[in-house]
Amino acid sequence: MTRKLNDQTAQKVLETRNLSKWFARKYGIADRISGKPQKYVKAVSDVSIQIYRGENLGLVGESGCGKSTLARTILRLYEPTKGKILLNGTDITGLRGEELRKIRPAMQMVFQDPYSSLNPRMTVSEILSEMLSVHHVVTKQQIPERVKELLDMCGLGSEAANRFPGEFSGGQRQRVGIARALSLNPEFMIADEPVSALDVSIQAQIINLLGELQRSLNLTILFISHDLHVVRYITHRIVVMYLGSVVEQGGTEQIFQQPLHPYTDVLIKATPGLNPLMKTREYAITGEPPSPVDIPSGCVFHPRCTRCKQKCKTEVPALREVLPGRFVACHYPLTEEQSCAEKGASSDAKK
Ligand code: SF4
Repeated sequence: MTRKLNDQTAQKVLETRNLSKWFARKYGIADRISGKPQKYVKAVSDVSIQIYRGENLGLVGESGCGKSTLARTILRLYEPTKGKILLNGTDITGLRGEELRKIRPAMQMVFQDPYSSLNPRMTVSEILSEMLSVHHVVTKQQIPERVKELLDMCGLGSEAANRFPGEFSGGQRQRVGIARALSLNPEFMIADEPVSALDVSIQAQIINLLGELQRSLNLTILFISHDLHVVRYITHRIVVMYLGSVVEQGGTEQIFQQPLHPYTDVLIKATPGLNPLMKTREYAITGEPPSPVDIPSGCVFHPRCTRCKQKCKTEVPALREVLPGRFVACHYPLTEEQSCAEKGASSDAKK
């Protein structure tokens, strides 16, 4: 069931306030002498999101829109340029050194390529034991039992304990990656394209595992994916990003049935199979996204928007609530009739 954005009883686990991450471009002596201004890749700009306990929040958008940079900035793997990150209401933006190390176990990541994040020379048991031991999650005596429990939870069985990552298939390795992320009992988990490197037949198994774990452990997850089918299946709410900015936020099924932002609308329409009655070719998004170095004036989507008017070129549309729990950054949001409106289409989303 979709969680309401304004549900006052739900506890905010993670929150960002106007979070930005800009990367300085190379600025040589010649640039300095000629007085050229320093340029920045504005990967993430003024992103404010909230994730509630037990919620799976989807983060979607074309590749290069800033999804992974946002995730890494939240985890403090990148230093934020400005804005705040709050974990359980505590501002963690300025934490350094030991203070930062202390909160790291609370925020874990499941990577797209689990193999690159697992030490190939350690057995699965050693990988998990090391996590449990270094972070003092359980006593030394309890480690073997906890390893067995984690493997069971992730559908691996205890015979996996003495094998090396290279001996597993891609899907099994992702299960190990999930077990490792869960070993520290995280408050919050980011799954960054966790199935995009897997065969289609295996993807469903990993998605189902994440869904089951999310429900049974009441996990709080930020789920990043460019695959709208997967996002629709597994998430409660979604945040749509375009060129580093949030353009729409709301309940997953509400957005799929009635997108309000023209970009979300065309993103849904251009995805094959979301609605078999639609000819996706007719709805391909035209043009390439502009460079994140030269962000367009006004609405970031205006150079590609078929509904663009004069105001869109000069005034930045604020992200505002236009329907209960539905936020959109557009001067002229789509009406019910204008959106792709999959009215009556039933989703098989398991929420
Ligand atoms: Fe299109 Fe204007 Fe809305 Fe931007 S503000 S999405 S250009 S209609």
